[in-house]
Amino acid sequence: MLFHSRYDKTSFQKKAGFYSIRAFLIIGLICMLLTKINVNAAPRVQDTGDKVVIVIDPGHGGENNGTTENGVLEKSMNMTTALAMYEELLKYEGIEVYLTHTDDIDMSLMERAEFASSKDADFLFSIHYNASVNHNLFGSEVWIPAFPPYNAYGYQFGYLHMQKMQEMGLFNRSVKTKLNSKGDEDYYGIIRESAALNIPAVIIEHCHVDEERDFQFCDSEEDLITFGKADALSVAKYFGLKSTILGVDYSDDAINLQEVQENNRVHSTMKDETAPDLCMVTLLEKDDDTGLITLEISAADYDSPLIYFDYSIDNGHTFSKLQPWPKSDALNGTYQDTFEFELQIPSGMQPNIIVRAYNLFDGVTESEKLPIWHIFRYGEQYERKPVTDTTITTDKKENKLPGTTSFLPAVSDETEEEVPENKFLLFLKICIIIVVFVFFIALISIVVSNVKRRRRRRQRRKDSGRRIDQRR
Ligand SMILES: [Zn+2]
Repeated sequence: MLFHSRYDKTSFQKKAGFYSIRAFLIIGLICMLLTKINVNAAPRVQDTGDKVVIVIDPGHGGENNGTTENGVLEKSMNMTTALAMYEELLKYEGIEVYLTHTDDIDMSLMERAEFASSKDADFLFSIHYNASVNHNLFGSEVWIPAFPPYNAYGYQFGYLHMQKMQEMGLFNRSVKTKLNSKGDEDYYGIIRESAALNIPAVIIEHCHVDEERDFQFCDSEEDLITFGKADALSVAKYFGLKSTILGVDYSDDAINLQEVQENNRVHSTMKDETAPDLCMVTLLEKDDDTGLITLEISAADYDSPLIYFDYSIDNGHTFSKLQPWPKSDALNGTYQDTFEFELQIPSGMQPNIIVRAYNLFDGVTESEKLPIWHIFRYGEQYERKPVTDTTITTDKKENKLPGTTSFLPAVSDETEEEVPENKFLLFLKICIIIVVFVFFIALISIVVSNVKRRRRRRQRRKDSGRRIDQRR
């Protein structure tokens, strides 16, 4: 019916429609062009003079080693990367570069900021390597000032640099701020002290030295130098520098900086104080012959993106290594809210599944327990059982998922005798027996009390008027 009415239009209506479509297209095109201009060439909000002055701060030094996890000495790693960054930046024109220190000395955060101020620095970059309390986090992050206008400067640099880190294969933990307990100042001293002297400062945490997936990015001197060069490249791009030696020119508008407003905080950089709002796990499929189960994991956080998950198959006693959350884009705040996940249950185990979802600020939410009422039996130790008409397929690729090894309960060869196949059924049987028994007892007591009552009545009739104590 709808189609008919369209064909019945007069020619005037048709013309009017044609013109409005044309106007719509033209307006659309103008809008597209405007957006394109904005997206491709968002200007750097930080204003600098003709010459850019950069101070590089190798984190820690002297008595302060930084992290020493995994046998590393963070202060030395920071120095190697900072020196490489310094040397690389010297290849550019229109820049002055300084290091807060080159010797292994103690230097307070205020002294570092004052040094930058004495050089009239446009920006301070503090170079670090990370480690986490539970040694489970991995990825790269940039900490920036929380307050305007430095928040905007830090965000434009951080966004650019995190893209570079991601390109190098590092996991993206994005660009963030952290406040003190009162919430009125930056938590990190170097950022706070620098901001007090009107210098934007950021902390580059390249990767985690205590996590194996990250450690491979920083376990050699070449790696540390590679990070220094990458840091320098982002600085050159951010400030639109040129280098004749390197044959590069970043001074044109091709550098894509994020659109920000100098006096507004970038919302995504503000700490999400709450854990993810939701985390659920359901069983989709299980294969008794291979021990493979398929789970559906759903989670949501309305304030910040989800970046990791981990899981337990032994009722929360042990958890897997952290896994990257599927399609998590920490920089742009997106992630896939539901996904399927396949995992292998070791033979001889009755799993109790728990999944945990982690947001960008490491807030964690645990799912409800998902018990699977089944003991998985497969593999070599069960091959000796008499095989009837159906062939038992044995999967030798046990524990093929990363992180499942820690769950392996040793399945001894002595578990030959029959074990009740289903604990739940056994439990149900016991319950039924108890109920029947209680019912039977109740019935007997009713019958007995009835008999007694009748006997008493008969007795009363016999000895009319006489009172006899009740016997029990
Ligand atoms: Zn550090």
